[in-house]
Amino acid sequence: MTPVEGIQGYIVKILLLGPQGAGKGTQAQRLARITGARHIATGDLVRAEIKARTELGRIIREYNDRGELVPDDIVVTMVMRRLASSDSWVLDGFPRNKAQAGALDDAMQAAGCEFDAVVALEAPDDALVERLSGRRTSETTGAIYHLSTNLPPADDPGPFVQRDDDKVENIRHRLEIYHQETEPLKDYYARGGRLLRVDALQPIDTVTGTILRAAEEPPVPTKLPRSASGRERYAHAS
Ligand code: ADP
Ligand code: ADP
Repeated sequence: MTPVEGIQGYIVKILLLGPQGAGKGTQAQRLARITGARHIATGDLVRAEIKARTELGRIIREYNDRGELVPDDIVVTMVMRRLASSDSWVLDGFPRNKAQAGALDDAMQAAGCEFDAVVALEAPDDALVERLSGRRTSETTGAIYHLSTNLPPADDPGPFVQRDDDKVENIRHRLEIYHQETEPLKDYYARGGRLLRVDALQPIDTVTGTILRAAEEPPVPTKLPRSASGRERYAHAS
């Protein structure tokens, strides 16, 4: 985490892993607000594309509605485009399988940069189902709330809506895919000595503090040295 002179903020590269409902979006929104980093959430990118009724949106809608992963080439292209235009980011919901993790590692290595923190938020499935059933999102601000544990402040006008895919049967199916495809990534990042496991059942502030402290530690070096800052560094992948 590098302070940026002259403006209030930090350059950070934080990866948030974890099952549906663990609090990735909640934490990413807070980390982005605190550091000035860009919050890149692949689920939000997917929903925006669907809402815009593009040809691509029509294709990916079917995957989203079934609670299944959108094909890697589509999602990797979406993410790389965002990474190319930002030095400081919190990545939420990507990667979700080994192919995506490999594409991200290649892009990071080619750009000569490192993660400041790779965080796995962990919680048992039953708690996650409860959380997702009570999740509501503000249509005005995009902020994430919960019917009982995380109520909206008075200055968020709402309306507070439930995501179409947050129905119990769909949630269980998404969690199964998480355990099969995404959870093995914890070992993948742990092998590189880069993984911080965090108990996601702790209070929201506690989790944020833990992630920020981890991001302040010197990064674990990858094969390539840290290069000079530059927005073109991901350009090859866009
Ligand atoms: P994810 O992005 O991992 O799917 P969200 O950030 O959308 O998870 O959080 C899921 C639900 O759990 C939301 O309703 C959110 O308000 C709530 N939540 C998130 N973190 C916590 C926490 N530490 N304690 C209690 N509720 C939380
Ligand atoms: P969830 O965490 O419940 O899957 P998200 O908001 O993260 O919700 O994602 C919504 C949908 O977008 C997913 O069900 C999936 O279809 C698609 N999606 C999001 N991220 C990815 C990804 N990295 N790879 C493939 N599909 C994705």
